[in-house]
Amino acid sequence: MVSHSGHLFIVSAPSGAGKTTLCKLLSERFPEILFSISFTTRPPRASETDGIDYYFIPKDEFVKGIENSRWAEWAEVHDNFYGTSSEFLDRKLAAGHDILLDIDVQGMLQILRRYPDSITIFIMPPSPDVLRSRLESRSTDTQDVIATRLVNAEKEMAAKDRYRYIIVNDRLPEAAAELISIYEAFRQRRVQ
Ligand code: 5GP
Repeated sequence: MVSHSGHLFIVSAPSGAGKTTLCKLLSERFPEILFSISFTTRPPRASETDGIDYYFIPKDEFVKGIENSRWAEWAEVHDNFYGTSSEFLDRKLAAGHDILLDIDVQGMLQILRRYPDSITIFIMPPSPDVLRSRLESRSTDTQDVIATRLVNAEKEMAAKDRYRYIIVNDRLPEAAAELISIYEAFRQRRVQ
């Protein structure tokens, strides 16, 4: 196993649980944490920018990446491919950076096998009804997409006990404080 001085923080959640907002708040509080920008074959949403939210790549390039071991983990989620660059992780970890990964459960399990010291955090919506209404109020997705996301959310939530920490995002400020305190506690332990 390769030894690294930085650490990985993996955050997973069903879509609509508020994960993106929580990860942004963590990054604002600790700008030194690097965000791992995933590669995906999904088309960009109107609000997304290539190279910031994701690297949007064609499917043949993604598949070539699988063959060339370019991905530290990869998964098919909601009929699209998503992957994490192993070159980015290894280079930044070796330089001592902590890295935040926003990936799904399948990806978390692959990363844990490769980087067993990773800190894993699952974000839960307060209830299935709240999740549904959050997804419906995002006008970006069609009814079909929302239905697929709800089915996938059930599957993802069934795996929550495989994570070291579970945060219920009932009220955003409290959920953000919990996420920040997990990172702070971890950092304090490391510098002692
Ligand atoms: P979205 O399409 O809504 O941005 O993301 C859909 C799902 O894909 C989310 O659960 C997100 O965490 C997951 N995801 C994003 N990037 C990656 C990745 O690189 N690897 C894996 N395994 N999942 C990812």
